[in-house]
Amino acid sequence: MPVLDLEIGGGEFITMAGPCSVETEFQLLATASHLCRSGARILRGGAFKPRSSPYAFQGHGLEGLKMLARAREQSGLAIVTEVMSETDVPMVAEYADILQIGTRNMENYSLLEAVARCGRPVLLKRGMTARISDLLRSAQFILDNGNPNVILCERGIRTFETAMRNTFDVAAIALLKQISHLPVIADPSHAAGHRDLVPALARIAVAAGADGLLVEVHPNPDKAWSDGDQSLDFDGFDDMMADLAPWLALRERTLPLREAVGSRSLEAVG
Ligand code: PEP
Ligand code: MN
Repeated sequence: MPVLDLEIGGGEFITMAGPCSVETEFQLLATASHLCRSGARILRGGAFKPRSSPYAFQGHGLEGLKMLARAREQSGLAIVTEVMSETDVPMVAEYADILQIGTRNMENYSLLEAVARCGRPVLLKRGMTARISDLLRSAQFILDNGNPNVILCERGIRTFETAMRNTFDVAAIALLKQISHLPVIADPSHAAGHRDLVPALARIAVAAGADGLLVEVHPNPDKAWSDGDQSLDFDGFDDMMADLAPWLALRERTLPLREAVGSRSLEAVG
């Protein structure tokens, strides 16, 4: 799947990284400039934030999109950012290279229809209570409405387990790679909920066959306006990337995971 000069789901493992929320120009530009030197290819950052509390920071909106565009200019990184409302889709598509559909909107069909028609690739996050078949149905809805460029994202699901923020469904990554031709990205940050666990989940995602990662990184996580607990600082990001290298090298020596495509059909998951 082409995004600027990148190919997602091709030979290169693609890391998307950046803050949960776009906060200040300084925060974003400092993060982008560090990330592009440390191997990330796409900058993430929310300008529209779906928050559990109405009193929490809701994002800078258009101002945040403009900051993202300036960060792309300065760093060369492509931009992925969330869109929450169908009326905002044309505006977000003007600034972003990939539109993110958040977990809370995976089944918002008017939003899915709008992103299907926007001409940009879509990063579709799995709903926190969605089955794999539900995720694939939402992806199919976008495809059927004219946009073949859908990236699936496993970000953890809700289970009875409360030790982590979510339960990272690593089997979903392996299964999606078998039954779907779409690229699969893993988000270890929202799955873990705590930064200490993020590198381990990232390694597991590589082993399961993910095409890339979506990771939260902040210059000063303890001061982050959202999701600080699960955000890596710059050194933490560099350590994670260094740790991933041997796992990626190991994967290249194993049978190409793509060979399994088509061996199980969508019917296999209902
Ligand atoms: C995010 O990426 O910051 C986010 C809100 O993700 P999710 O929709 O998976 O909770
Ligand atoms: Mn977040």
